[in-house]
Amino acid sequence: MEDLLKSLSQLAKDKHNENKKFFAKLRKKPPKKLDYLMQELHDAEFERTDCLECANCCKTTGPLFTPKDITRISKHFRMKEQAFIDTYLRIDEDNDYVLQSVPCTFLGADNYCSIYEVRPKACREFPHTDRKKFQQISNLTLKNVAMCPAAFNIVEEMKRRIPK
Ligand code: SF4
Ligand code: SF4
Repeated sequence: MEDLLKSLSQLAKDKHNENKKFFAKLRKKPPKKLDYLMQELHDAEFERTDCLECANCCKTTGPLFTPKDITRISKHFRMKEQAFIDTYLRIDEDNDYVLQSVPCTFLGADNYCSIYEVRPKACREFPHTDRKKFQQISNLTLKNVAMCPAAFNIVEEMKRRIPK
């Protein structure tokens, strides 16, 4: 996994133009059973991938925190919401609450998330490869393949499985 993570950004760069073209076509004419295919590819990839060996998403980017996330997690810490925000979060250029720093402060040295049960929705859903109408998040996916080996593999498999 370590070797793959080291080479992932270059691999993604090499595939960027091909992926861009692929997603442009996919957005124009998504296959009828795309939701089913994505669920299948996502499940197969995450049977092979052990996120505990990776944690690259938690190390290199942070989730955004919705108001519900903030309520749930601050309750977990028995903190006032404003105190939780002041301690851990900042507002980014899109006006979203994000972590003050990465790697995520809740990530342990063993790659376990210390707030796993109450983690933000964005963490639960990352890398969004089982999302319905997957073609709608192609710009986000183009970025995610440079950070998430599972997303990278899923997109490679999509290109093999979806007729040109
Ligand atoms: S979701 Fe992707 S980047 Fe995050 S730990 Fe799993 S494989 Fe790694
Ligand atoms: S909250 Fe947990 S799952 Fe989310 S980025 Fe931090 S360590 Fe990773």
